[in-house]
Amino acid sequence: MRAAALLGPAEIRSLAESLGVRPTKTLGQNFLHDPNTIRRIVKAAELQPSDVVLEVGPGLGSLTLGLVAEVDEVVAIEIDPVLAAALPGTVAERAPGSSLRVIEGDALRIAEIPGPPPTALVANLPYNVAVPVVLHLLELLPSLRTGLVMVQAEVADRLAAPPGSRTYGIPSVKAAWYAEVRRAGPVPRAVFWPVPNVDSGLVRLIRRDPPADPSIRKQVFAVVDAAFAQRRKTLRAALAGWAGSPSRAEELLVAAGVSPQARGESLDVAAFARIAEVAAR
Ligand code: SAM
Repeated sequence: MRAAALLGPAEIRSLAESLGVRPTKTLGQNFLHDPNTIRRIVKAAELQPSDVVLEVGPGLGSLTLGLVAEVDEVVAIEIDPVLAAALPGTVAERAPGSSLRVIEGDALRIAEIPGPPPTALVANLPYNVAVPVVLHLLELLPSLRTGLVMVQAEVADRLAAPPGSRTYGIPSVKAAWYAEVRRAGPVPRAVFWPVPNVDSGLVRLIRRDPPADPSIRKQVFAVVDAAFAQRRKTLRAALAGWAGSPSRAEELLVAAGVSPQARGESLDVAAFARIAEVAAR
């Protein structure tokens, strides 16, 4: 482990001031200013020194400093040009000798990450795009084996929800295609500057094999989208538009071993995959 001088409240304020940064809601800019929370996130990520960590939205570098102390290589994607430009200097000064690559760009649109492939995703995510960012990166980078992300508490619940629960929905099923997902604890509002008006929580992701051939993923996700677009309806009705008619939907559901009277919220990702497989035959 390398030494890194983590950022506390005074350092965060003076860094922001020297860069002329005024945190914006549009970019979900709530910066961590609590070294204990940083240590907690890094520990929960269960990193190996050989991991290549991908951090989305490094901001002023609070979490980045915790990460470069733990692993040999960190790659960070930051959309804000001022923050992206300042990060290498902050890390060189506070964690000398560490290896950091900064990509200025939008994590939602990134199509490749040059250099050694990232093996772990660790991020305090911009909350308004957290789910699409996680799904995009899991799809784009099969090299990502684990993840530890901070998101809005409500989103953490949705991502980790099991079938049948109140919060189970599109994010839960799609995330389950790629990974085992579980909540990894709440995070108090006071550790952020500015203080957000929502609660936060940690989510742990462990990659697993998808429940069907990866080539069919888009079709599976289309079934999921259709099933939850009309959440209260039976699958026979909810999937009628997708299948062509209610009777065709019923036929496919029966062939997939799913009751046409069931609702999408009771199906796990493997059942959604079976429906798409039957339709593709
Ligand atoms: N990691 C820092 C921390 O914990 O203090 C900052 C976290 S802040 C919640 C989210 C960060 O993501 C901001 O720095 C913001 O500029 C950046 N961001 C927002 N949208 C982004 C996107 N689409 N791609 C990459 N970075 C983004």
